[in-house]
Amino acid sequence: MIQLNVEEQRIAKKILSIKTESGSHSPSIFSILERVPEVNIKVDACFLSNPYATSLFLRYLKKDLIDTGKLRDVLEFYPSQNRAIAEIISNLINMPKENIFVGNGATEIIQAVMHNFVEKKIVVSIPTFSPFYEFARDDTEMVFYKFRKEKDFLLVADEYIDFVKKVRPDSIVIINPNNPSGSYLTYNELRYILTNLREVKNVILDESFIEFAFEDERYTRLSAMCLFYDFPNLMVIKSMSKDFGIAGIRAGYAVMDKEKVSKLLKNGYLWNSNGLSEYFFKLITRSDFIKEYEDVRKMYIIETHNFFKELAKLPKLKVYPSKANFVLVELLDGSRSIDFVLKLLVKYGVYVRTGNDKIGLEGEFVRISARTKEENQIIIEAIEDLLCSSE
Ligand SMILES: *Cc1c(COP(=O)(O)O)cnc(C)c1O
Repeated sequence: MIQLNVEEQRIAKKILSIKTESGSHSPSIFSILERVPEVNIKVDACFLSNPYATSLFLRYLKKDLIDTGKLRDVLEFYPSQNRAIAEIISNLINMPKENIFVGNGATEIIQAVMHNFVEKKIVVSIPTFSPFYEFARDDTEMVFYKFRKEKDFLLVADEYIDFVKKVRPDSIVIINPNNPSGSYLTYNELRYILTNLREVKNVILDESFIEFAFEDERYTRLSAMCLFYDFPNLMVIKSMSKDFGIAGIRAGYAVMDKEKVSKLLKNGYLWNSNGLSEYFFKLITRSDFIKEYEDVRKMYIIETHNFFKELAKLPKLKVYPSKANFVLVELLDGSRSIDFVLKLLVKYGVYVRTGNDKIGLEGEFVRISARTKEENQIIIEAIEDLLCSSE
């Protein structure tokens, strides 16, 4: 069992107080570094982004904005308005701009949807990304559908459909692949669920991790965005933070019924994208960038799955199947997940996320994200040493 010594406990206490301040999200690596300087963080495997995509973006940004001096314009002037950014995205995803709502990150869109369209009752599948229940209005009833660990946290389509039909909510949320479990619904399963739940007014589908999922050997991504044409009750939310590694610039969008887009725009969101996110959305319509992005996306997926395989070889752990860029790991030796996380951070400088604050996740779970190949190696060695030295 993992235990902390006196010195580790002292540092752990400081970290825990920062954690309390950040609510249901993990404290950023910056706040830990600033307030607990004795921790030497080597790898942040708490945050869920593709680090290779960040490097690629930075390379383009340097060439296009910094080296040319155009960064000044981006900072000095107003960015384009919401509708102009929607037009860029419209060209990108081949959907009418009237159906696109641009957000300051997907979190802003989740908030807007929860406040404006979700009414009396919503079915949220747990464990989940916390804003889907934390941002609910006071007059919205939350009904939880529980993913079971015995079923690898997979959504069982027929069981889910029966559950929703019985509860009769106006809204449901599906995250695919799900956060924090990484469990994935195939395109066909999703279509089957939508076909059987036409009576639900709002089907919220969060595809923030879809670029990491695949159903064939060539790692083709299968977004359900196009199903919107057949299912007007569908709202597809997409964060760009994770797959493009750019959480700092706050870029996200959603596809939904045009009446809904109009309703949201009527009372705000005029300049909710900044100049850097505008640059980003223009960049991802460029073929030179996308060609390179596809390479780093596929390389990262391959390395991610190699990493999962290495993790699965470690003793005293159960690694659950994931089609995202992170995995849920269950501790089987009686250790507490919080001790595992704190010891890994304090002794090895590896930052992972405990699952103990996630509703619907009972047991000792840790969520670990895949980083660069070198960082993954550091994570594996640290966990191996931690588990083997805690007989
Ligand atoms: C991180 C995350 C988001 C929010 O992303 P931002 O665009 O950075 O606000 C939305 N949904 C899920 C499932 C996430 O994990």
